[in-house]
Amino acid sequence: TVTVFGSCNMDLVAYVPVAPRSGETVHGRAFRTVPGGKGANQAIAAAKAGATTRFVGSVGTDGFGEQIRDTLAGTGVDTAGLRTVEGNSGTAHIVVDDEGANSIVVVAGANASTDRIDGEAEGLIASSSCLLMQLETPLEGVEAAAEAAAAHGVRVVLTPAPAEPLPESLLSKVDLLVPNEHEAAVLTGQEDPELAVEALLHSVEEVVITLGERGVLYGNRTGKRLRVPAFPVRAVDTTAAGDTFVGALGAALAGEESVERALREGSAAAALSIGREGASSSMPSAAEIREFLEN
Ligand code: ADP
Repeated sequence: TVTVFGSCNMDLVAYVPVAPRSGETVHGRAFRTVPGGKGANQAIAAAKAGATTRFVGSVGTDGFGEQIRDTLAGTGVDTAGLRTVEGNSGTAHIVVDDEGANSIVVVAGANASTDRIDGEAEGLIASSSCLLMQLETPLEGVEAAAEAAAAHGVRVVLTPAPAEPLPESLLSKVDLLVPNEHEAAVLTGQEDPELAVEALLHSVEEVVITLGERGVLYGNRTGKRLRVPAFPVRAVDTTAAGDTFVGALGAALAGEESVERALREGSAAAALSIGREGASSSMPSAAEIREFLEN
């Protein structure tokens, strides 16, 4: 079982020819709403990749909260740990121009109240084999969840995004840290990913640095180093590539697969989702991942 602790939002996306400058009003071409947030995306990726998956987080009492809950439940994620708190759900206000460039305002909303864990959440974490977390919710909650996991021997996988320097008290409870190149550089001051792996292994047992179309680098404290190339795909939409990778990786680790295999499944899932439009809607099923790896 995979438990994901973290953020969920409604993404409110406006498509415009050219983004407005301050004080300017422009006509948009289209608008859509898409449930997102790194936590929700990782949970959907893990559930689609075949793991029994639960989500622990918060939505608001607005209509978006119900839509986020329904989307999670609709992909098979158990939402018993998703609290509804008075006020707005988290939202991301996104403007995408014709060049594909975007500007984004994120309002935390209900995610701000995911700052602790209650007894029920602790029970969900304790009975998991793997806990996936990110940094879009308050650090206190992430620390509390990591502590609960560590106390029960649950493997803690942290995506340190958005990047911020992290206290040793948190890192010491993380088993596997999964930054992208930029996040690894923020954490270590090292631009070279190979050196960043070595630096991060001072704090955690295992590290995976994702390098976009250059694949991933893995290292652990027993001296193992792996490089898994990305699968060649025509990139249509790279939104949530990292979340898809981590969700599928977590599902594979919870299924007691080897690290080598888990890294390949994560890379395959990310490649499949990048080849199609959409964020969570483009994430592949377990059968699709298996078939992709066999061919
Ligand atoms: P993030 O989206 O968090 O910045 P990355 O861009 O590093 O993360 O992507 C995560 C993983 O997705 C990569 O390690 C790789 O396996 C896969 N991936 C990303 N971009 C591509 C691409 N253009 N082609 C194939 N695989 C990709």
